[in-house]
Amino acid sequence: MSSSASSAVNGGVSFWYAQEGFPAPREPLSGDASVDVAIVGGGYTGLWTAYYLKKAAPFLRITVLEQRFCGYGASGRNGGWLYNGIAGRDRYARVHGHEAAVRLQRAMNDTVDEVVGAAADEGIEADVHKGGVLEVARTPAQLARLKAFHERELSYSEKDRELYGARETAERIRVAGAVGSSWTPHGARIHPVKLVTGLARAVEALGVTIHESTPVTEIRPRHAVTPYGTVRAPYVLRCTEGFTASLKGQKRTWLPMNSSMIATVPLTEAQWASVGWEGRETLGDMAHAYTYAQRTADGRIALGGRGVPYRFGSRTDNDGRTQETTIVALREILERFFPPLTGIGIDHAWSGVLGVPRDWCATVTLDRATGLGWAGGYVGSGVATANLAARTLRDLVQLDSGQGNRTDLTDLPWVDHKVRKWEPEPLRWLGVHGMYATYRTADHREHTTHSPDSSRLAHLANRLTGRHQPHEPRGT
Ligand SMILES: Cc1cc2nc3c(=O)[nH]c(=O)nc-3n(C[C@H](O)[C@H](O)[C@H](O)COP(=O)(O)OP(=O)(O)OC[C@H]3O[C@@H](n4cnc5c(N)ncnc54)[C@H](O)[C@@H]3O)c2cc1C
Repeated sequence: MSSSASSAVNGGVSFWYAQEGFPAPREPLSGDASVDVAIVGGGYTGLWTAYYLKKAAPFLRITVLEQRFCGYGASGRNGGWLYNGIAGRDRYARVHGHEAAVRLQRAMNDTVDEVVGAAADEGIEADVHKGGVLEVARTPAQLARLKAFHERELSYSEKDRELYGARETAERIRVAGAVGSSWTPHGARIHPVKLVTGLARAVEALGVTIHESTPVTEIRPRHAVTPYGTVRAPYVLRCTEGFTASLKGQKRTWLPMNSSMIATVPLTEAQWASVGWEGRETLGDMAHAYTYAQRTADGRIALGGRGVPYRFGSRTDNDGRTQETTIVALREILERFFPPLTGIGIDHAWSGVLGVPRDWCATVTLDRATGLGWAGGYVGSGVATANLAARTLRDLVQLDSGQGNRTDLTDLPWVDHKVRKWEPEPLRWLGVHGMYATYRTADHREHTTHSPDSSRLAHLANRLTGRHQPHEPRGT
């Protein structure tokens, strides 16, 4: 952890950990072991999977292997949008039919309440506020995209979504230059670390073993190999999201994409009066390189966006350290959104990685021949999706082991989806950096020309990188 020129704390995993403190470390693995289910990765995906499996079958011996500590990854660093977006839905509609994608969307809508309910059942106090998600447009081109996005969401049976003009938007949040917004009730603000650390405690209390400081170096059928011993299990579930590329044989599976955030000092009452935001909606925009934000429980704004998008060779992370240029860029966005906050103190800046599949579609899979399973590739929308994936992995394991039948979840269209690998370097680096450079140019053009047409450049970037609906996974 260090201080940047702007005096913000830089890195230290995340602001959320700076607030909460790091939990006491758990013991590493201390030799070979045999269990029924081995789960690699102690983020939301791994922990929810352990949670639901153990609840469904308390006799199962389940071990979670975590390279650092639970919540070290995106689950301890995210923007706290618990919302109903899922990466890949529109592609699943094309491949499996519209009705299948509607089922997926409904399952996501329900997942927001499932997480809120399960956290309450377990006594996890995670600063949950269900104020929905508000996405604003600030240029004519963004407004055209917003309207198209809104219509598309309605077509997936999201009947309770509302479209607002400039005045109604300002009544909710006074984002400078906002010309319209789309609001859905299917979203809640959460404190990411309170959720993940509470979940780890709940899982342990159920009787699941968690080993921290235990990196898995290789996953093979029925084996998770670590420097301290090998865990053998009929089912080995990979829940490593943005870190997947560091596993043997997975270098080109999911691209580790960075997302960066800043947290302001607490706003004064007068500052909040200038901003509004009484409903504490999670807030996003319609730029190609988009922004996401929340009003925290202790009265700050935590705001994120894309900094340096990707590191050469799929390298991941440095405990969240963030480049100074990214911090400056995020501050500029904050001040453009809320001019009365110009010059406000920034307490913390941090970054994390999320997993991006070649076709930008989230997946959950259990290979019945090998007992290997995985879930992820959520792009930027994993806070809720990880919970749906975990319940689906539970049902797939139950089905395969003869303890359960097919369920509504095992029949969802994202189950067992196959995707090709990313290109070797330097193509990967060039493609992703080119895409974000193009997005920034496109956003700039849309701001300066005021044209209602989305920049062709952004369409081109989407085509080249295989991203179909640029605004589909909206969180990060
Ligand atoms: C800055 C940022 C903001 C975001 N904001 C939002 C948001 O507001 N809303 C939203 O929906 N999504 C958001 N996301 C995405 C969301 O946080 C993730 O999709 C979600 O947390 C993924 O959970 P996970 O458990 O699959 O992965 P992670 O939380 O990354 O967990 C993976 C775990 O696996 C461990 N691990 C990795 N490799 C190994 C190994 N070899 N051996 C052992 N352990 C290993 C890691 O240490 C890590 O703890 C954001 C992501 C970032 C980075």
